[in-house]
Amino acid sequence: MDLLNTLVEKGLRRELPTREEALAVLATSDDELLDVVAAAGKVRRQWFGRRVKLNYLVNLKSGLCPEDCSYCSQRLGSKAEILKYTWLKPEEASKAAAAGVAGGAKRVCLVASGRGPTDRDVDRVSKTIEAIKEENEGVEVCACLGLLSDGQAERLRSAGADAYNHNLNTSEGTYGDITTTHTYADRVDTVQKAHAAGLSACSGLIAGMGESDEDLVDVVFALRELDPDSVPVNFLIPFEGTPLAKEWNLTPQRALRILAMVRFVCPDVEVRLAGGREVHLRTLQPLALHLANSIFLGDYLTSEGQAGKADLDMIADAGFEVEGTDTTTLPEHRAEGGCGSGSLCSSDEAPEVPAARTDLVAVRRRGAGTDLAPNA
Ligand code: SF4
Repeated sequence: MDLLNTLVEKGLRRELPTREEALAVLATSDDELLDVVAAAGKVRRQWFGRRVKLNYLVNLKSGLCPEDCSYCSQRLGSKAEILKYTWLKPEEASKAAAAGVAGGAKRVCLVASGRGPTDRDVDRVSKTIEAIKEENEGVEVCACLGLLSDGQAERLRSAGADAYNHNLNTSEGTYGDITTTHTYADRVDTVQKAHAAGLSACSGLIAGMGESDEDLVDVVFALRELDPDSVPVNFLIPFEGTPLAKEWNLTPQRALRILAMVRFVCPDVEVRLAGGREVHLRTLQPLALHLANSIFLGDYLTSEGQAGKADLDMIADAGFEVEGTDTTTLPEHRAEGGCGSGSLCSSDEAPEVPAARTDLVAVRRRGAGTDLAPNA
């Protein structure tokens, strides 16, 4: 297929596809799916070999958020029966992080609900970062605390944070339909602040919220423009008790096409398979390893992932290997110059209505904030 040959050639040269080419990937048929995966897999292997980076989430502060992000179980007015707790102490967070590191995680992601941190919160998280770094040699720490005010990114960097995550989530055109309490521009601003402070920027999207193919291409091109080092691709987990509870829009095949499109647009970036992979990819999860080079191990913020052992088995069975702490995740041209050094930013299918699979959404009752062992 000419389209796929062109995309592979561009991906190997780190060249941006056109919007039309990205849209054409999303419009491929199920009959073409394995060809699409094989083509994007060539690009993935060129920049990341067969390595899979494992990341582990620690929810420092859960629920009770004043913001109204429609997809989020922690939002204002959410009726989802999730755990709600305020800040974990540094030693509690460090203990939680150790469970992920023991399972093979190379990066720990410290997440807190809320619009953004106060300066006191930044102090608190700084102590947590120091505690985690002290006890887990070589671990990367990423903070995800919401919108940043001036100077906060620099303070997190000084405390030892390696990265900052703040997702764009959806296109600029649809952002107002998903959230009203902050703007797309606010989110862009925080990613830029993280970048400017020398933190490795991590910013991604959520697919499956009812967006069009054009919206998906818009947000992925916008991400490419922002030039994060890692791009988490989430698939909406439609939590009961949130406005998007009935949005079951994805099939495993559609999820794979989205990941392939992201890989073609961001060929040398860490593409991370994030929340919702078990729910939406289901038995096709191993195919996604040919597209993403990074996954979360164990549980998500407020929902259960599959057991860490099952992830490790899947990686080995599919012929991939867990990336060790002695290996640099990003290709040399990106890793050396830090964020942005390697980018070349210059530059229909019939509607599917999958059946709702609410049986697959299990609210997290383990791990950080509980006395039960995490699912890692
Ligand atoms: S995504 Fe973050 S800011 Fe939005 S409601 Fe959830 S916790 Fe709050």
